Amino acid sequence: MTERVLIVEDEPEFAGLMQLWVERAGYETAVAANGTEALRRFYELHPDLVVLDVALPGIDGWGILERLREFSRVPILLVTARSGEADKVRGLKLGADDYITKPLSFPELIARIESALRRAGTPSAERPRALRHGEILVDLDDHRAYVKDTEVRLTPTEFRLLAFLLEHAGQLVKHGQVLGAVWGAGYTADVHLLRMTIRNLRLKLDSVAPGESYVATEYGLGYRLVAPSQTRASG
Ligand code: CA
Repeated sequence: MTERVLIVEDEPEFAGLMQLWVERAGYETAVAANGTEALRRFYELHPDLVVLDVALPGIDGWGILERLREFSRVPILLVTARSGEADKVRGLKLGADDYITKPLSFPELIARIESALRRAGTPSAERPRALRHGEILVDLDDHRAYVKDTEVRLTPTEFRLLAFLLEHAGQLVKHGQVLGAVWGAGYTADVHLLRMTIRNLRLKLDSVAPGESYVATEYGLGYRLVAPSQTRASG
């Protein structure tokens, strides 16, 4: 599977050049021109690495770096025009993996991308590192769950349950199917156990986002993860 690189850069010509070089090196690429777009593209693509320009309109590179590090350990390569030691330290403190200064050499950019991916270990797995549905985000690397950007503290079982629901977002998942996937093959008839855990999960989600009903009950059958706010927002 080809590794994916998200390039965050607001200058179209420079972004295009970086994209050309990175694609020529054998990676898939996507470009985002600002912070909002960068975060959206990140959730969509689950990139294996982010090349992040610090000087951006709106949310700057520092802001994006902080947001990404709240839920992801994806390798991040910072690009900045400033070569000061202070910026380098700030970037590394905020969780960047490496640092490259403009004007940059494209072969050096490629070399840094390759070494950051090598350090990150395994190339992109089949499984995404984060799952998102509407306002719910589950980071599979860090075992953390967020609703509306607020962390929800879950037990390991509740976490697996929520991740399973996100993997099947919008679909009906039957009792036995959930029990088998979350607890194991010996539990497929233990509907009471599932009901209790669903109840606890709902209470925790509700404590962060009161009034939202993310987990819908399909009576006698199972559950379905829905995105209430998203539905409302789209009319
Ligand atoms: Ca820029």
